[in-house]
Amino acid sequence: MKYKLLSILIGVGGLILISRYVYGSDKYLGIFKVTGYCNDKECTGKSPGDKGYGITKSGKVAKWGMVATDSKVIPLGTKLKIEGFDTIFVSEDIGGVIRKNKIDIWFSSHQDALDFGRQKRKVWTVKQN
Ligand SMILES: [Zn+2]
Repeated sequence: MKYKLLSILIGVGGLILISRYVYGSDKYLGIFKVTGYCNDKECTGKSPGDKGYGITKSGKVAKWGMVATDSKVIPLGTKLKIEGFDTIFVSEDIGGVIRKNKIDIWFSSHQDALDFGRQKRKVWTVKQN
């Protein structure tokens, strides 16, 4: 009976390895300097009514789960895991000061962005489907 359990465990482990190989796995990118931004003038230079207000570089209405990245480092459309969050983020935006290992998380209010502040977090890409 012990061997049966062992062979089941090996079987399950093998399936996980195979599916990781077939479907890919998360790739660790390193530690990023993560900040927050919102739609307001202070963060984006745009006010309500301005062209492109609240719209990301990718043309979407900015909402929770979207981040700005340096598109040379993390191309638009990349799915990301950021340490400390359950959300799978998507790079939808860019920013003048968002260069290299910086990520800007979109928040619905300026206060939330300020409260988040500036933090160093581990970042992974999530395999695209
Ligand atoms: Zn703001």
